Parts: sequence; C-alpha cells; structure tokens
Amino acid sequence: MTVPTYPVETDPPVPTGAQAAAPPVSTGVLPAARAQLLHDGSVEQYRRAIADGVDRVARRVATVDRPATGVAPAELASLVNTVDLDRPLGDAGAALDELEDAYLRDAVWFHHPRYLAHLNCPVVIPALLGEAVLSAVNSSLDTWDQSAGATLIERRLIDWTAARVGLGPDADGVFTSGGSQSNLQALLLAREEACAAVITPAARLELLPRLRVLTSAAGHFSVQKSAKLLGLAPDAVITVPTDAQRRIRPAAVRDEITRCRQAGLSVMAVVGTAGTTDFGSIDPLAELAGICAATGVWLHVDAAYGCGLLVSPTRRHLLDGIERADSVTVDYHKSFFQPVSSSALLVRDRRTLRHATYHADYLNPARMVQQQIPNQVDKSLQTTRRFDALKLWLTLRVMGPDALGALFDEVVDTAAEAWQLVSQDPRFAVETRSQLSTVVFRYLPTGPGRELADGANLYAREALAASGLAVVAGTRVDGRHFLKFTLLNPATTVDDVSHVLELIASHAGRYVRDNVAADLTCPVG
Ligand SMILES: *Cc1c(COP(=O)(O)O)cnc(C)c1O
Repeated sequence: MTVPTYPVETDPPVPTGAQAAAPPVSTGVLPAARAQLLHDGSVEQYRRAIADGVDRVARRVATVDRPATGVAPAELASLVNTVDLDRPLGDAGAALDELEDAYLRDAVWFHHPRYLAHLNCPVVIPALLGEAVLSAVNSSLDTWDQSAGATLIERRLIDWTAARVGLGPDADGVFTSGGSQSNLQALLLAREEACAAVITPAARLELLPRLRVLTSAAGHFSVQKSAKLLGLAPDAVITVPTDAQRRIRPAAVRDEITRCRQAGLSVMAVVGTAGTTDFGSIDPLAELAGICAATGVWLHVDAAYGCGLLVSPTRRHLLDGIERADSVTVDYHKSFFQPVSSSALLVRDRRTLRHATYHADYLNPARMVQQQIPNQVDKSLQTTRRFDALKLWLTLRVMGPDALGALFDEVVDTAAEAWQLVSQDPRFAVETRSQLSTVVFRYLPTGPGRELADGANLYAREALAASGLAVVAGTRVDGRHFLKFTLLNPATTVDDVSHVLELIASHAGRYVRDNVAADLTCPVG
C-alpha cells in the first residue's frame, strides 16, 4: 500500500489591527490558575517549584537515620484529615512545608540499608531524571498522535527485553503498571487462545468454567485475582506442590494436567514463577516448557522478581528455559532499580496481543493498522498510559545493563551471606536458601516458652516496625509465623543484617520472658 504524502505548510499570517482578538480581561482566580499551567510563560515557576521539591527530598534522603518512624495510622490521619482541601495555600513552598509533616517526615525510605521488608528497591538517578521528564512532557503511550518518539522508545525497550529473554523474532509486548497487570494480561491472552477453537458463544460459555490454571503453591496471588477477573471458575487456579527448595514439582504439573483432562477440564496455562515473592525460588523453567510443549498448554513465566537476572553478569543461567515461554512478566520496578511503576508483559508471538485489541473511531480506527501507525493501545489493557519506558531508557543510556546486573548480583550475594549468618545462629530457624535475595526465618525460644514462637515473631516484627529502626516482613510457612528479609539494596551489608537480627532477638526474647512470667504468676484454678 502507498502512504500518502502531504504538502508542507507554514502557519498562516497572524491577523493584525481590528481582526486581532482582544486578550481576555484578567479577573479573579483565573490568571493565578493559568500561571500554574506549564507553558512558555511559566517555565521559571516550573523550574523553581521542581527544584524546591527535589531539594526537600534530597535533604530527607541525606539525613534520615532510620527507614521509618513507626508512626501510627491514627496519628498521621489526624494531620492529613484536617487539611482543608478547599482552602489552597497558593504557593508551592507552603504546600511543601505542609507536606513535610503530612508525608515526608514519616515516609518509609527504601534507600535506607535497614529497610529489609518487601520487594521495594532503591531507585537509580537516571530513572528519576526520566520520571521528571516524562511527567512534564506527559506523553500518552496509547496512540502515536499522543506520543510520537515515546512509542518508538517503548518498542525498542520491549524488543531489547524480549531479546534478553530470548523469545525469538516474533516477540512483542507492552509496558504495564506492574506485575499484577502483566499477569492479568498474560492470562487473558492464554484464555483467549484456549477458547480459539470454540466457535459458538454457547460452546465458549460451556468451556469457560472448565478452564484451569496451574501454578506453584508459592506463586503470586495475582494469579488467583486474575482468574477471578477473567470470569473463570472459583477453583480455576490449582496450586501445585513444591519441593524442599519451594520450586514447583514438574512431575506434579504433568500429573495434574493428566488428571484435569481425565476429569473433562482444560488447562489453559501453567504459570511458572522465576523468583517467588517469599522464597526467591525459581521454578524449573525448562522442564515446565517441555511439559507445556508436549501438552499444548500456554506457559507464562512470572519473572516480576527474578527479571534482574536478565542483566546479571554471573547468574543469567538461573533463568534457562524462560526463552521457551509464551509470555513473561518483568517488573523493572523490582530488580532493575526503577521507580514505580515500570513493568512489562512480553509475548513470544505478537499476534496473540490481538486479544487486547479494540478499535475506537476517535482513537485508533482499524485504518491506522493498514497505515502502519504504531498505536500501542492496540496491545494494552490501558488506554491513557504513562511513558514509564523513558526511565529504563535513560538508565540503560547512562549506566548500561551490566551495571544494573552488578547491583542485583550484589544483593543476591549479600542475601547468601545473610542466610549463612541466620542459619548459624541457634536463636533462629531458617528456611531453605533463596536463589535470589530473600531470607525466611523465625525466632525460636529455646528454654521455656517454646510454644510462644508464633507470638514472639509477630511481636518482634511489630515492635521493630514501631521503633522504625528497621523494617522486616512477615509471612506464614506451613501455618507458622515467619519473618522475612527481602534484600534489594546494595547498600545493605551483612553488618546491617546482623544488627537487625539482634533487635529481633531482643524483642522476641522479651516477649517470651514476659509471657512465661505471666504464665507463672497466673493463678491456677
Ligand atoms: C511483586 C510480584 C508480582 C506483582 O507485581 P506488582 O508490580 O506488585 O503488581 C507478581 N508476581 C511476583 C512473583 C511478584 O513478586
């Protein structure tokens, strides 16, 4: 087909004299409101306001001495809820002053080496630069006519990531808001592929409740949530048992597929996890790929956490087999040190993205597909969409992939040392060593009060959080309460870990002593 060409035009002359429209009369709030819009007349104000905001954050980052203050929700709520939103302060400086109390003072700081709780990373500066640029330009990645070059940059990064995964020449994908959305979209595509053979609406209705998804017992809950959103049966997600390393058992997956088929059910996807949220375990991806290929089942790999291995100079092999997946979730905002949000869904066969395609006359009429106009909305669950890709782009252009991978390697190394430390400490019991950067463990009272272990671990976590000196996570393993370190900060040292262990032991020990003492003084009868 031929792409039409258009004449080059210049602006018509500006009308002069009586033809020129008189400027609007400035009254009331409007001129001040206009001055708050970013435009050619307000750039100085923009520079000052942003610089002031950056300066406040920089001062906090330079001076916070603990990852949190342990503020209670009620305490902050009284502050936040008494702000009168109908009475503006009129000035960015004043609003930032107020924000210091309402937010910055008690914020949780992921750059602090004793923040050890969830999969939150310290962020790299090139990405923050990207964030500042992308929000000011405010491109929207749904259509080319709202983004221009931004669309091409996103596409390059999708291609780059897909090449790192090894998905082959037909791969494609799209940036998403996070791993949960990526998993949802992957399962949407898998559901539609599973329904592709059924033609009549009645047959589809009959098939939907029989669809099943297999994932590991350690998989992410967004798989269950997605199944619900996709209208699958309440018991559609079957959790398959794991081995001692908390990796899905391939033989159990194979058995489950057979069992489902015998029961008249249809397995629409196997979700392998490359980095389970709690245990950092990586499912045997190559074996899962073999089973899925043999049975014709869609393989989705949730690498929300483990995607950092894609750039690891030493551990890329841990993802071997991922290149055979039909779809892959990556969360750059976890192991690529990017600010939230930054995530992507990748697919082996770009044609499968059509299941997310709808054409709207006003936005992306089908005609544009023939004209080869790259409208990313054709591949996305979202319409208006942030140019999150710019953050990764600037990160790669400034630092490069090896530097990112080295950062991730460092946290994995530190986590291995931390695991050694905990496993050698008689006060603690530790789960199997993570392949990534978590340490799951629990305080174990030795003398009297053994039965208080659950309470002691719950108490220690809360007491630690209330002190703000460190933040650790909690989870349950086989019905018992455990604590969890998630290391994503290269600044965290083994000394930090050791220090936090002492804090935990002292809180937990006090809990046990107090409760044993309470037991002894409790009148019998
Ligand atoms: C964090 C995580 C998700 C969810 O990602 P969000 O970006 O938080 O939505 C999905 N899967 C795994 C394994 C995760 O660790």
